[in-house]
Amino acid sequence: MSEEHVLICVAWPYANGPLHLGHVAGCYLPPDIQARFERAKGNRVLMVSGSDEHGTPITVTAEQNNITPQQVVDEYHALNSQALLDLGCSWQPNIDSRGIEYGGALFNRTSDPRHKKMVQENFLQLMNAGLFETKTMEQYYEIHQDGGGRFLPDRYVEGICPSCSEDGARGDQCDACGATYEAAELKNPVSKMNPTSPIEIRDTDHLFYRLDVFQDVLEQHAASQHKNWKSNVRAMTKQWLDMGLRPRAVTRDLSWGIPLPMDGDEWSGKCVYVWFEAVQGYSTCARIWAEDFAEPHNHTLGKDAWKKWWCVAEDGTKPRHLYFLGKDNIPFHTVIWPALIMGLNHAKNGKTIEAPIQLPGPGDLSLETNVPAMEYLMLSGGQFSKSRKHAVWLPSFLERFDPDTLRYYLGINMPENHDTDFNWPDFVEKINSELIAAYGNFVHRVLTLGARLPSGEAGPFTAFDDLETTREAQKKLDEIHASITESLNRHRYKEALRLAMNAAQVGNQLLQSATPWKFLSDSDDGSNPTYREERHESLSALSFGWRIARFLAISMQPFLPFSSTRLWSSLGQTGDVSQISWDSAIDWNAPMTWNNTKPEPLFQRLDLEEILASEQSLADSSEPKEQPGHTVKGGKKNKNKSTEETKMTEAPEGIAYLDFETFMKVDLRVGKIHTVEDHPNADRLFVVSIDDGTEQGRTICAGLKEYYSADEMIGKSVVFVANLKPRSLRGVNSEGMMLAADDGEGNVRLITIDGDISTGSQVR
Ligand SMILES: [Zn+2]
Repeated sequence: MSEEHVLICVAWPYANGPLHLGHVAGCYLPPDIQARFERAKGNRVLMVSGSDEHGTPITVTAEQNNITPQQVVDEYHALNSQALLDLGCSWQPNIDSRGIEYGGALFNRTSDPRHKKMVQENFLQLMNAGLFETKTMEQYYEIHQDGGGRFLPDRYVEGICPSCSEDGARGDQCDACGATYEAAELKNPVSKMNPTSPIEIRDTDHLFYRLDVFQDVLEQHAASQHKNWKSNVRAMTKQWLDMGLRPRAVTRDLSWGIPLPMDGDEWSGKCVYVWFEAVQGYSTCARIWAEDFAEPHNHTLGKDAWKKWWCVAEDGTKPRHLYFLGKDNIPFHTVIWPALIMGLNHAKNGKTIEAPIQLPGPGDLSLETNVPAMEYLMLSGGQFSKSRKHAVWLPSFLERFDPDTLRYYLGINMPENHDTDFNWPDFVEKINSELIAAYGNFVHRVLTLGARLPSGEAGPFTAFDDLETTREAQKKLDEIHASITESLNRHRYKEALRLAMNAAQVGNQLLQSATPWKFLSDSDDGSNPTYREERHESLSALSFGWRIARFLAISMQPFLPFSSTRLWSSLGQTGDVSQISWDSAIDWNAPMTWNNTKPEPLFQRLDLEEILASEQSLADSSEPKEQPGHTVKGGKKNKNKSTEETKMTEAPEGIAYLDFETFMKVDLRVGKIHTVEDHPNADRLFVVSIDDGTEQGRTICAGLKEYYSADEMIGKSVVFVANLKPRSLRGVNSEGMMLAADDGEGNVRLITIDGDISTGSQVR
């Protein structure tokens, strides 16, 4: 049995609202499945995460609700950590039940004073190694009547979008059209919190981390990870590296955060930028876990126990580091965090910025082994959104449903390679006709049929336990077990769960062909000379059903821990199923046991009409929403609309409608590809000139090199966005975007025109 050190790093949820199902599918369920699987295999697992509690969205919420930022984060840390436990995520107990040397788990928070202290120490180390530089930036400043004032983070400034002229655009980004810009470009800027206070742009000094000096070593690292990483991780990392790394601000003008560890007036009122400190939580959490649990429980390394999960050993052995996160966070974990880790190693080894940066060696902090990042779970076709309240919230879901139903649905529907969708009809369908029909019913049949046989001490099945007659089924299950293991090793959760469900189907087929219900009572009247043989064979198949149910309890445990525990007990097995060795699932000689209490169905059937009615009443009972025009699920709805209008515009499944006017702002046109050349400064990009019906034509940079050769593209009639704000991509001005379809599995094809039409034609 392997006893590898495995560090499971789970993205830190932002403590500014409840978790929704999109978060669960993307970040919180996959690592728990992996952690449970690794433990069952005998590995030493430490799982770390916690609430990300600093930054401006939290101060905005606090100011809007007239409470302190601490009150905001206290509320959501408590709510979210409890919801994750209720979902069965193994954040408790903190110490592995096999003993402290086997690790454990800690769900911490970034307001922990020890996290703050460790971040400040790291900050100074990086600064002393010369890895920071100072730059002067322009920032809005709010002037108060008493002569004082404060710098305003971008989220605290509102104005008219320089791109679409919509009012209410944020300081750096417009929610209406998606444009990003410099704060100074915003028209009619005002302070969001104090609209009457005058504001002006002032200079402010900030420290920047020299990401640029890590370019080469990160490219080397990405190349070595090519085989491990999923295609989305490879592509997004490459895109970042191809654009060239630039220094990134590590300080900002804000009081809610970790104070800078330097004296001097120029640094007062500034704090460590939240991205820089929250990401360090992966290591500070491991260190705090060691202080709180490993040292008091006599781990051989005491408070240095975290190093077992973090540092490259003297012989070069690396702990396995797995990072679980949504796709929006990929470059953060494959570029920025590795750059910080290598910077800390560099500083710890007494080197400064003049010395070349190196990949980690013995004694250094280790880089990620894999980043099995997820795509998005959508909600009835629209994106989950905390700010738009378009979501099904985890706490309210768990008040109403068995957590294993959610774990099943999100597991079988996991957004591994492309976005997937949550909607109530599909949820009900998958629970009733897959989980219950295949798995629940199989187990229930075995137990209820068994209960009708005469039972000895060890149950009704021992008398018929004959492994000779069920060799074929054993072989199938042995194969399924090996495949599930392989899939989980490769982070293919959907496939692994599908395979486990196949095992239930093997059981159903076995019962169907053995028809044990015909042989429950012994009706041998002598008329059938082979009756005894037939009965033995049929009931030994039923008896093997018990072994399949045991196989399922162990194999389903990482996915469906609650029902596995119930099943384990229904089978008369003792102890905790999560402590049972993974390979014991195919131990066909495990002693048979029996539980004499009446078997209960493993899952309750769901009723779609009932659920939709209760969803509707949840929506009805909530307050009016903040932003009319967006639909709402499990949250709020606009009371200003008449019921009729509500029916027309608000789908019960909560599709996030785009209003027609917004859609019509997108100017799609037909163009013909004229020339295709390599981008001079970006490996991934083509520079495409397009005949767009105008005299001068236009140039578009397109990341299609992996999918097309230049020759294949020339002459194609394509659809492009004509009114996208032009932007410079590594020195080439790109004037629009061509539309292409992407299946998420490595195939990308251009949208082309069916037949002849003149270039410049509008697409509608
Ligand atoms: Zn805009």
